[in-house]
Amino acid sequence: MTIAVCPGSFDPITLGHLNIIRRASKIFDKVRVCVMVNSDKNPLFSRDERVALIKRCAEKYGNVEVETWDDLLVSYCEKVGATIIVKGLRAVSDFDREFQMALANRKIRQNIETLFMSSGERYQYLSSSIVKEMGRYGADISEFVPREVHADIVQRINERKQSNG
Ligand code: ADP
Repeated sequence: MTIAVCPGSFDPITLGHLNIIRRASKIFDKVRVCVMVNSDKNPLFSRDERVALIKRCAEKYGNVEVETWDDLLVSYCEKVGATIIVKGLRAVSDFDREFQMALANRKIRQNIETLFMSSGERYQYLSSSIVKEMGRYGADISEFVPREVHADIVQRINERKQSNG
């Protein structure tokens, strides 16, 4: 059985992320979405909240589980018996960093492979930061995020906007 891990910060999950998770779920026996620490010191959602939001959108695929992890990604892979890390690639701009991460991970664990999946063409431009930025200015973000979590995201962005004045 091949288990793949889709790691990321998912703050919040976008249709671009979900597209990668769905496609991975068709290829691998099991997909584990791993919600990692966000470098952003003031995330929109806590990690547990992000897990809950992703579950709401992705558990319907049947073979997807969602968890949070705050250690090395390769240690998570070992814990769950995963041999593949799936990363979505948007533009060339993603490539350098992702390539570096993939090589570093392979250096420390030779038995874990990183596979890159090209972003769905409709989602090339999409990132969690774009969602937050657009949402803050009141733009309609329904084209950017899964409908199951749209209301939660809009509400949180608005709360944040109010508390920041
Ligand atoms: P972001 O860059 O949006 O903050 P994350 O750190 O949560 O994203 O990303 C997790 C994974 O999802 C990464 O492999 C990233 O390249 C991928 N990803 C993010 N947005 C998209 C998208 N629009 N299309 C394809 N892959 C994406």
